[in-house]
Amino acid sequence: MPSPHVHGLHHVTCIAGDPQENLDFYTKVLGMRLVKKSINQDAPDTYHLFYADAAGSPGTDLTFFPWPEAAPRRHGVGMTNEVMLAVPAGSLAWWRARLDEQKVRRGEETTRFGEKTLPFTDPHGLELALVEISEPRPFVAWERSSVPADRQIRGFHAVRLWVRDPAPTVRLLLDVMGLAPVGNDDGWQRFGVGGRSGTLIDVKAFPDERRGVWGLGSVHHVAWRVSDTDEEMSVRAAVEASGLHPTPQIDRFWFRSVYFKEPGGALFELATDGPGFGIDEKMEALGESLVLPPWYESQRTEIEAGLPPLRN
Ligand code: ZN
Repeated sequence: MPSPHVHGLHHVTCIAGDPQENLDFYTKVLGMRLVKKSINQDAPDTYHLFYADAAGSPGTDLTFFPWPEAAPRRHGVGMTNEVMLAVPAGSLAWWRARLDEQKVRRGEETTRFGEKTLPFTDPHGLELALVEISEPRPFVAWERSSVPADRQIRGFHAVRLWVRDPAPTVRLLLDVMGLAPVGNDDGWQRFGVGGRSGTLIDVKAFPDERRGVWGLGSVHHVAWRVSDTDEEMSVRAAVEASGLHPTPQIDRFWFRSVYFKEPGGALFELATDGPGFGIDEKMEALGESLVLPPWYESQRTEIEAGLPPLRN
């Protein structure tokens, strides 16, 4: 394994429509825990909602900016167009019945890289899939979930990236981020860390496809795990040396972030494993109150008045 390197997926941030519909879908239908209710640090009139396992473990955290007025996304190259979530072996039939009972738009069960996979779409057009994993993985069950612990989503499995020309993106994944090839299936090349669920990215060439456009139901960015600031700055230096343009490190309170566009055009982030979601709320009360960055605290009344009410 080359050094420095990333350790897998940290979080994925997407664009949603109505925040209440978003909250209801991810908590009630998918049974995830709302672990943080905050605002977009760059646009305080917009929520930033985080869904994860009970502990908000890195690698389980799907986050959303609800922008109901946004135009629908357009799939295309330079975009992450699907997010795969891991579920326990043997649970997919249960999930299929649940999605049908909840009238979720879904595709047919299929096999990808030898794994049973069920694609579906969230209420605002985000493409997702549930994938049965054979190996158990670290995960903290949410005892107040609407989904029994033995069926709960274990975290990310993989993300799917469309690119016009895979070569520069693959070089970044292998030589700069330290991922390894996992295999090929149906035109997709898979990369990851030790081939493990939660570390995987699938890349496919769409040479004639137009550029994708962010909007309702799109992935905004994919964040990759680094252990701490030292490792983040080492990977950042390698990204910069490869000719890309990473941002300075930005403090997101629950983790520290560096952003850059991969050569195909999709937005990536490096995010530290710590300090985690318990830094500003008690673990048993995660997501229950609106958490603001300190510089917005003096405007709390106005900010809360400007946000639509949310019932969890
Ligand atoms: Zn992020």
